[in-house]
Amino acid sequence: MKKHLTIALVAHDQRKADMVSWVKYNAPLLSRHHLVCTGTTGGLIKDAFNELGIEADVECMNSGPMGGDAEIAAKVVRNEIDLAVFLIDDLNPQPHEADIQMLLRQCRLHNVPIACNRISADLMISSALWDNEDYHPTEQTYVKFDRC
Ligand code: PGA
Repeated sequence: MKKHLTIALVAHDQRKADMVSWVKYNAPLLSRHHLVCTGTTGGLIKDAFNELGIEADVECMNSGPMGGDAEIAAKVVRNEIDLAVFLIDDLNPQPHEADIQMLLRQCRLHNVPIACNRISADLMISSALWDNEDYHPTEQTYVKFDRC
């Protein structure tokens, strides 16, 4: 697996505090990678790195409701995202539900690891498999299971 990753970071409004806290916790590790974020999330993440005095490569898309999730989904389709952390507000309806579902579906379809809570994000980002040159993700198949 490659070592310099492009990581997508998206958090809904009620999950932004969690995202900022997660980014601060993992700041030294995250600063080694390219971060692609929806607009508001990205702004807060830049502020968090500035506060810590750590340089980071943070690229901001549009705000989520204005198409940021769709832009990140397009990057997933083009194979430009290695890992996604998507902190979804599961307690409140979102105006861009269709885009959220699209991003989730494209990650599943294109075999991109996607963490939707902090523990998944911690486990995924710290996986030893990132450093294992012999590890190659298995291609997914979409075939009917046949018992033979
Ligand atoms: P935001 O978008 O970072 O611009 O708030 C996140 C989202 O709502 O998907």
